[in-house]
Parts: sequence; C-alpha cells; structure tokens
Amino acid sequence: MKCPVCDRETDGARTCPACGADLGALVALRELPAQLASEGAALVQDGRVLAGVERLTAATVLAPGEMAIRRTLVDALVVAGLDELAWNQLKTVLAADGADPAARRAAMKLRKRMRVRAAVDRLVRAFASYVT
Ligand SMILES: [Zn+2]
Repeated sequence: MKCPVCDRETDGARTCPACGADLGALVALRELPAQLASEGAALVQDGRVLAGVERLTAATVLAPGEMAIRRTLVDALVVAGLDELAWNQLKTVLAADGADPAARRAAMKLRKRMRVRAAVDRLVRAFASYVT
C-alpha cells in the first residue's frame, strides 16, 4: 500500500516509515474484508450458518473482486440451502474465471441439488393434487 501523504510504499505498516503518517485506519479498512470472510467461514463451520452468510456477504460487498471470498460465500449459501442466492454469486465467480475448479465443482453440486429439489417439488405437487 502506498502512503496517501507522501506516496511511498509502506508494505502494510501502520505508520508510514517515510513520513510517519498514521495509517492504522487505512490498514484496518484494507484488512476488513479478509477478516469478515474468515469470521464468516468460522461461523459456518460452527453451525451458525446465517451469521456466517451475513459476514461473508459484507466481505463480498467490500471486496467485490475477491473471488476467493465470493467462493466462500457461495459455499456458505449452499450450506444454508439458499441455492438461488448461491447461484447468483457463483455466476460472478464463473464470469471472472470459467475454469475455476472450485467454482465448477460448486456449480455441479448446485445444479444437481436444484434438479433434485425440482423433482421433489413436482412429486409434492402431484401428491397434493392426488389427495385433494
Ligand atoms: Zn508517508
């Protein structure tokens, strides 16, 4: 990161080594998406899936170009059963890199599950119309 005061490279230091400017807030802001993402992933692991999705969504909004974070959000949305939202995020990941193996695996898993859900829906509707 470059110091906004003197334009020198700071290597992530919280104080500019050249001019002594306090860069703490900037560094914290820059680290926030990664921090939110790791908190979110930990919450999902812990079974607090929606809280994790919340953190990961915030991280994705703050760092829209970070596909690793977005992929983690996709995984969390899949765990939460929010397939449509997962699919929307996954489309962005695949648009950035269509060959991303983790994204392709997630896409395959999602398609499979959405097909199963559609089949179950059809069965439930057929059964409902049969019993009524
Ligand atoms: Zn400086």
